[in-house]
Amino acid sequence: MSTAPIGILGGTFDPIHYGHLRLAEELGERLRLEEVRFVPSGTPPHRSAPAVTADHRLAMTRLAAADNARFSVDERELRRAGPGYTFDTLKELRSNLGDARPLALLLGADAFLEFATWHRWREIFGLAHVAVAHRPGFPVERWTERMPEPLAREYSGRLMQQPLAIHLAPAGGIIVVPFTALEISATAIRDMLRAGASPRYLLPAAVLDYIRSHGLYS
Ligand code: ATP
Repeated sequence: MSTAPIGILGGTFDPIHYGHLRLAEELGERLRLEEVRFVPSGTPPHRSAPAVTADHRLAMTRLAAADNARFSVDERELRRAGPGYTFDTLKELRSNLGDARPLALLLGADAFLEFATWHRWREIFGLAHVAVAHRPGFPVERWTERMPEPLAREYSGRLMQQPLAIHLAPAGGIIVVPFTALEISATAIRDMLRAGASPRYLLPAAVLDYIRSHGLYS
């Protein structure tokens, strides 16, 4: 049985786009992840309600992940009543997968800067590593200045220089991985659709076909 790490990419995926997919692909490769699980969030604790239903977001995420053998989609947050906390998801995954399997929570750098506002965020390090994707040229050295003090402290204590070090422990490290920046956001895609502009090539064609055939975001 493989013991390679499993990556977790949470998001509203409202809709899923190539920014999410490149993050999953590049970190999957760089970190030699066994699997990247996309976990669409239910009622997100951090933000306003998604623009379309959970079933639509799930269907689009499945379409986007379908042709990649490393990708899978995990519905657990959509099936849970109440706020979908990442802490609870990781705790469940940990009990399903056992104590030894390395888990890596994949985050964009923007999401990591907010991390200290998350429910039980410190305890997340007891359940998973945190892998932060940053853009080339991003000034990582001065980055800690933008973090709130408690996050900066965890960051400097947990930072691992070698990304593949996450294979050697089940949880607890932070790694920063450069990746190809794509200036794509779901907000911009929703705005384009509302304005009647084309978001083609910002997201998979199958997802755009789904959006059009269900009349979403218009
Ligand atoms: P919205 O515009 O609705 O806020 P979003 O496009 O930022 O949505 P989310 O579902 O909120 O997407 O993001 C989930 C995760 O994907 C976060 O960790 C976020 O940092 C990351 N992410 C989103 N867009 C990109 C992108 N273009 N490149 C890299 N990571 C991204």
